[in-house]
Amino acid sequence: MKIIGLKKKALWESIPCICIKGDVAKSYPLIKCNSCKFTAQWESVPKKDFTVNDDIKDKNGKVTKKQTKTVKEITLVRGSFEDVVGWKW
Ligand SMILES: [Zn+2]
Repeated sequence: MKIIGLKKKALWESIPCICIKGDVAKSYPLIKCNSCKFTAQWESVPKKDFTVNDDIKDKNGKVTKKQTKTVKEITLVRGSFEDVVGWKW
């Protein structure tokens, strides 16, 4: 998987974690810890190639050929703390 938009160190990585380890009630997601939130967002990014449905349809939307394609390259979409808010291919 080629990931476009990688950074050595994004702004959000400087945000300290404010969770109390071992105390689930004082840890993300029950408290608003931006460090853990942005980490979870980054971890949701696929790091390996994956396949998607790529059926061919006629002009009426009827599937004429079923097929898949492999996504080998994605582009990260970053928010104001350079956190990963999404990705596209
Ligand atoms: Zn945290």
